[in-house]
Amino acid sequence: MATTNPHLPVETQCPICHAIENIEVSASGFAQWHAGKNIQDALPELTNVQREQLLSGTCGPCWIDFFNMVPKQHHGQALLELRGWTN
Ligand SMILES: [Zn+2]
Repeated sequence: MATTNPHLPVETQCPICHAIENIEVSASGFAQWHAGKNIQDALPELTNVQREQLLSGTCGPCWIDFFNMVPKQHHGQALLELRGWTN
């Protein structure tokens, strides 16, 4: 039996430049992610930038700027702040 894996567009808005983008993700992977699965495991077909875009909304160009601005040892903490997960 052929398995279909429909994709759905997820709209993200960059918190830095406010650009709106749509990322195509597999519906099943997206459901798994929302059910609590690690995003790397649920959506392995996405690039790191696309996964980050789903998590925080940060678009590719801003992501690169962000990592150029923030010292490497602070990336983890800075990403949590960007996602609003620090509270
Ligand atoms: Zn941006």
